[in-house]
Amino acid sequence: MNLLAPDADKALHKLRSATEEAGGKLYVTEVYRSWMTQDKAHKDYLSGRKKAFVAPAGESFHQAGRAIDIDLTGLRGLASESGNTLLDFWNIAMKLGWRPIIGSPDAWASEAWHFEYPGDDWKYMVDFAPNKVAAKSAIYDTGQQDPMDSPQAAMVKFVQSQCNRLIGMAPGLLWLEVDGRLGPMTQKFAYNLTGRNISNIENLAADLSAMSNKSIV
Ligand SMILES: [Zn+2]
Repeated sequence: MNLLAPDADKALHKLRSATEEAGGKLYVTEVYRSWMTQDKAHKDYLSGRKKAFVAPAGESFHQAGRAIDIDLTGLRGLASESGNTLLDFWNIAMKLGWRPIIGSPDAWASEAWHFEYPGDDWKYMVDFAPNKVAAKSAIYDTGQQDPMDSPQAAMVKFVQSQCNRLIGMAPGLLWLEVDGRLGPMTQKFAYNLTGRNISNIENLAADLSAMSNKSIV
């Protein structure tokens, strides 16, 4: 099953057109992964069955429908001035909001094939927080959760994900770990955004969810 967040889906169509206009092809090999698929792929990586790095479940933008893997052979046709077709593709992709996950355009590097689309919702988090925290926030934002979460932990993690999504509206506050614990940082962040104490977590979650949905431009 291939699923993307609606804004990432639009951005993927643009990426495909722009790549083809430049003479290349966009072969997408992987998009959405469920919690269980990610978990299995990570375990295959740990056991050596899969060579390429696979993030643990809960830490990949694939699970939020905001990551794609591509087959780099499709880029061969790009009219390259630099001689590095991956660099040419980076230039196309980054203009459209897609981000590579590796530091320099080396087609032989592990994860050279992996691109993410944080969109407006997660643009602050990917700049300021560790990638895995941004990814976990984006996953919980979609309503998914770790099958091992208690209902209370899942609710708190959802609250933390919404705080992180709204971090652009909370100057001076640091991003939160999405750990399911109602610590002072989480309480302060939530109170700052909503004026609500954490005594009723359901109401708080609903308030934050409404705020982050309104913040979509
Ligand atoms: Zn990937």
